[in-house]
Amino acid sequence: MIPLAKPVLGQREEELVLEVLRSGRLSLGPMLARFEEAFAEWLGVPKASAVSSGTAGLHLAVRAAGIEAGDEVVTTPFSFVSSANCIVYERAKPVFCDIDPRTLDIDPGAAAAAVSERTTGLLPVHIFGYPADVPALERIAAERGLWVVEDACEALGARHADGKAVGARGNQAVFAFYANKQITTGEGGIVVSEHKARIDSERNQGRAADMGWLDHDRLGFNYRLSDLACALGVAQLERAGDLLAARAHVAAMYGQALAELEGIELPCPDQGGDRRGWFVYVIQLPRGADRDATIEALRERGVDSKPYLPAIHLMSFYRERFGHREGEFPVAEDVAARSIALPFFPQMTEGEVARVAEALEQVVYASSRS
Ligand SMILES: *Cc1c(COP(=O)(O)O)cnc(C)c1O
Repeated sequence: MIPLAKPVLGQREEELVLEVLRSGRLSLGPMLARFEEAFAEWLGVPKASAVSSGTAGLHLAVRAAGIEAGDEVVTTPFSFVSSANCIVYERAKPVFCDIDPRTLDIDPGAAAAAVSERTTGLLPVHIFGYPADVPALERIAAERGLWVVEDACEALGARHADGKAVGARGNQAVFAFYANKQITTGEGGIVVSEHKARIDSERNQGRAADMGWLDHDRLGFNYRLSDLACALGVAQLERAGDLLAARAHVAAMYGQALAELEGIELPCPDQGGDRRGWFVYVIQLPRGADRDATIEALRERGVDSKPYLPAIHLMSFYRERFGHREGEFPVAEDVAARSIALPFFPQMTEGEVARVAEALEQVVYASSRS
């Protein structure tokens, strides 16, 4: 079976994890600052706060932005659920708007139209690593006095047309390090924010840096990232350039192998100077194709795949809590109904890519004939 994702872990990861194990400092030790500093330097930002997951990072970022109960935050329905959940955690309301059919990121025109008197923030997601049009959202935010928090959890290595790295524009931005991401700490995330002191405190039960262990000056959480995880992060960052290049190479092989498959839409190529940081390889099946049957048939041929991503507003919780239903965001719903993620990881060989392409061809042509 060719799996969907597979981390690259080697001697350097073992070495640094072992260093932490032998030091006995498993949390809040020196590896935490080492990872944060290395990440900030890699991205080109002044500082960063490592946290236990991307979701935890998003939660702390919207809190640091000043989110309050009853606020509306305009965001995309075509994302992993945590970019909307982090708003709901604070009893605020995610207000969805439709996406751009090429990039699959939030459509700035639709976002502007969704802004109301109650809107206090915008939360774009760089989906599948393709840069969202944050410059356009920044103009809307400046006009309407809104904050911007970027979900960059899928976008390590992406770059905007103006040359800035995704996540390094000065907005708060969050990256994630689950095992399928571009770099991994097993579980983990990092927040790029000017509010580092507040975020560092809230990830650690609301303790200020100069306070004793059991004094708390604000409400906090346990969103700490262990030093073992940070050790993985330091090792992975050292090879981030290679990992990203390898992903881009696999994407290019897919592009060639799938070019002749009629009716299948491939991830959009970079355009206008924006550059994708390759995270997943997601294709859209022809309209009317049976996606579940396609996934099952691929599995029978030794190829793992999955629907990716379902639209957030149509999930049971969001339907029940906010009254959403089909038809609200036609582009997002169409894409969500047709997209599947194919196996995609740095060490994928040309032979494996060819096997996936061949299986897909057999399956899609067979179902279109039947
Ligand atoms: C991975 C991811 C997250 C964070 O996920 P965690 O599992 O909490 O680290 C958030 N948003 C998007 C779009 C993601 O892909």
